Amino acid sequence: MTANLLEFEKHEFAQFCTEMGEKPFRARQLMRWVHQSGVVDFDAMTDISKPLRERLRASAEIRAPRVIRDTTAADGTRKWLLEVGAGNAVDAVFIPERDRGTLCTSSQAGCALACTFCSTGRQGFNRNLTVAEIIGQLWWANRCLGRGVSTERPITNVVMMGMGEPLANFDNVVAAMQLMLDDDAYGLSRRRVTLSTSGLVPALDRLRDTCPVALAVSLHAPTDALRDELVPINKKYPLKVLLAACLRYIEKAPRDFVTFEYVMLDGINDSPAQARQLVKLVRSVPCKINLIPFNAFPHSGYQRSSADAIARFRDGLMQAGLTVTVRKTRGDDIDAACGQLAGRVEDKTRRRGQRLAAAVL
Ligand code: SAH
Ligand code: SF4
Repeated sequence: MTANLLEFEKHEFAQFCTEMGEKPFRARQLMRWVHQSGVVDFDAMTDISKPLRERLRASAEIRAPRVIRDTTAADGTRKWLLEVGAGNAVDAVFIPERDRGTLCTSSQAGCALACTFCSTGRQGFNRNLTVAEIIGQLWWANRCLGRGVSTERPITNVVMMGMGEPLANFDNVVAAMQLMLDDDAYGLSRRRVTLSTSGLVPALDRLRDTCPVALAVSLHAPTDALRDELVPINKKYPLKVLLAACLRYIEKAPRDFVTFEYVMLDGINDSPAQARQLVKLVRSVPCKINLIPFNAFPHSGYQRSSADAIARFRDGLMQAGLTVTVRKTRGDDIDAACGQLAGRVEDKTRRRGQRLAAAVL
């Protein structure tokens, strides 16, 4: 059977080389070729002997998900639609900024958690992505973007904020993140890899113990009654339980705060009274609040809060001493925003002209 090297964790590279009678350093060499040089052809691996290259060719391959579409917005935001089989596709989005480049990565085709304001949630759950499909997004993006004129890598940060709930695909997401962190692969620091979750508490505790990266939690409501409605998993892990888990997480986290995401839905969760409730709710947790203007999609039934309502809400939180950012929207010509990712394969050109925005994190 042909092994896909993009599916391998570090110890599997080692095992693979040992089984071929090779020294352990070969595993690291191979890992660097696969993940840092992004080669697909074993003949390009110039410091590996020809006979070994031939044996590699016979038993292994480097296979990333196929890119169906590659779209770049006027402002440089770039989105790849990757085929993951059986008619499914997932999106990966690169967001360049002056001082960093962030790749927003998907973890599942669809999502079972059915948050009411999320287009991925509306499409239901298809399946978990494999390690190769998750790390393949970073692999592709690195390959496509190159290293530019400087020796700096274009992608300095990864956020697990694309399609799917990363903690519901725990093992594959952690394996992929370990590669992101590995110096023989992408060498990102734990502070520069952020996982966003809607609050699967037991898995959050496991993450703390196995791979504590920076954490973002999708809060979206200041009370259980409203959160039960917007984020149905809240019925299982209500706010009190979730916030206690956040406090436990911070003990091991690479940053000394949690980012709380809060989507701004007109007339639903954006009143000054709700801002005051939110202040009370998060008081015990060191945090930053990231307000996300709602990104519309067809038949969502929601509207984005007005700029005034967002500013008022932000000011209410800031006056109470919280650190608040409003996620900026960029790009109006590709469909790449938070909650809009639906891995659609059909041609969307007819939808041009709608305000389709990409999020800046
Ligand atoms: N499943 C994870 C990560 C993916 S969603 C989570 O829920 O955290 C990334 C962020 O986008 C989450 O905070 C999510 O709530 C938010 N989001 C989903 N739909 C949105 C929409 N239509 N507009 C704005 N943000 C949205
Ligand atoms: Fe899933 Fe996150 Fe969308 Fe909720 S917001 S449905 S958890 S992807």
